[in-house]
Amino acid sequence: MTSRKHAERLDAADPLAHKRNAFDLPKGMIYLDGNSLGPLTHAARAALAQTIDVEWAQGLIGSWNTAGWVDLPRRVGARIAPLIGAGPDDVICTDGTSLNLFKVLSVALDLRPQRMRVISERHNFPTDLYVAEQAVQRAGHGQSLTRIDSPDEIDGLIDENLAVLMLTHVDYRTGAMHDLAAITERARAAGAIVVWDLAHSAGAVPLDLRTSGADFAVGCGYKYLNGGPGAPAFIYAHPRHHGAPQQPLAGWFGHADPFAFDPDFAPAADMRAFLAGTPGVLGMRALEAALDVWADVDMGEVRAKSVALCDLFIETVAQRGAGLDLTLASPREAAARGSQVSFRHPEAYAVMRALIDHGVVGDMRAPDILRFGLTPLYTRYVDVVDAAEILVRILKERRHDVPAYRERATVT
Ligand SMILES: *Cc1c(COP(=O)(O)O)cnc(C)c1O
Repeated sequence: MTSRKHAERLDAADPLAHKRNAFDLPKGMIYLDGNSLGPLTHAARAALAQTIDVEWAQGLIGSWNTAGWVDLPRRVGARIAPLIGAGPDDVICTDGTSLNLFKVLSVALDLRPQRMRVISERHNFPTDLYVAEQAVQRAGHGQSLTRIDSPDEIDGLIDENLAVLMLTHVDYRTGAMHDLAAITERARAAGAIVVWDLAHSAGAVPLDLRTSGADFAVGCGYKYLNGGPGAPAFIYAHPRHHGAPQQPLAGWFGHADPFAFDPDFAPAADMRAFLAGTPGVLGMRALEAALDVWADVDMGEVRAKSVALCDLFIETVAQRGAGLDLTLASPREAAARGSQVSFRHPEAYAVMRALIDHGVVGDMRAPDILRFGLTPLYTRYVDVVDAAEILVRILKERRHDVPAYRERATVT
């Protein structure tokens, strides 16, 4: 049963329902794109106002000390840590995901210079592949990147020649999720370094990085963590790699004593070695405040609601939309899926444009994927049922069949 009444009852019994009040969501919009850009929190707005009007305007240069700006990368890292199952000193907040991946991957390659194979997936997020190709070439060990088509190929490639296994935990197009613990264990048993991209995992699914033994991870601040457009990202390194080979973007904030102004580089012994230059204070303060909403949240509850939302969406679309040109691109089984649901449709772009005009905001990934991020802290069960009904109605009435909906905007 997927009636709206049923959804209303689920909302009334939802232990996370009150969290929606922490967000500043536009009225009348069903926002299912928090996997691409999380919404504004009231806390982030207040923190930015304070940072601008008081710390910057009044405190000026003194705020590096008095407002603790200089400690932001470590402080925000420590706040992300519990969400990914890491110790507070194992995470640093800095730069963006692409840059951080380059740093981490370069270290990983230097840790296994005698091994020639690096593995990632052909359908990984393109930036990960671009970065990996450059890192592999620049490391200069003669290694090369193998792009696999299916996760089934991983086991056959885990051997003594595998230097680095670099995977994105949750696929950005389909939401398909790897078994992080099992894959990490097998690759590490063969002596490989394991690097995870958690862009679609942090804040979306429970993670236990430290227990998994994973070597490194990177993740994104502006998706499920709601840090704001272009928010700083993060790096995790297992404690055994603190003090690992120097990452290539050595800069003064990664120095053991930045304010000694030493002409010779000496890396910090902790996660600060992954810093390069001055942190972007405004972005970091917004992310820090946005993380407040997680303080008393149980990731098990988040996961339970995420699974229920995704199942409800899939079931409602299946029931009402039978016979339409819509196929589920995400795994049907919750255990193999992150916190998003994707469908394929031959006119996905036009359909998404029509959906947005009808108040349902998801996004589209070329060539044919309609993507919906279901974020338990602010998405209600009624939103999911309403979105499914609007999607089905658009398709049945061919409301997407309008020339203007086929003209692409720059950002999809
Ligand atoms: C969103 C995303 C990124 C984004 O990288 P930026 O440097 O922030 O642009 C990278 N990798 C994956 C897998 C992503 O989903």
